Amino acid sequence: MSDCIFCKIIAGDIPAIKIHEDEQCIAFLDIHPVNPGHTLIVPKEHHANFLETPKELVAVIMALGQKLSPAILKAVGSDSFNFSTNNGRAAGQLIAHTHFHLIPRFPADGHKMWHGSDEHQDFAAMATKIREAVGSGE
Ligand SMILES: [Zn+2]
Repeated sequence: MSDCIFCKIIAGDIPAIKIHEDEQCIAFLDIHPVNPGHTLIVPKEHHANFLETPKELVAVIMALGQKLSPAILKAVGSDSFNFSTNNGRAAGQLIAHTHFHLIPRFPADGHKMWHGSDEHQDFAAMATKIREAVGSGE
């Protein structure tokens, strides 16, 4: 897409600090890293988000995450990382082109992904709603 910043990076119209490139994906350093070595893995084909990405391509992205993560961890001296995608604005997705964050983690780095809640919830009702939605294909 012509107005997509990641498509422009893939086309070479915008510079990025690439650490890997193959026929289907590129990986480059996030310019606003959570931690050193924070890498984005991006398929070259434009898809707006995870749900719109063909599952075969998702598998390619996952495999590349497995390939690159040991090298990234070695480079930054870490043994832990998060590998995730933000899907939708409320989840923090800023660029509407599928990408996965590979974020090296360090003890006490202060980065909190899940706060959790002790609030009472009706888990049984929630599970029923989700199972029904899965069953209906929605
Ligand atoms: Zn794009």
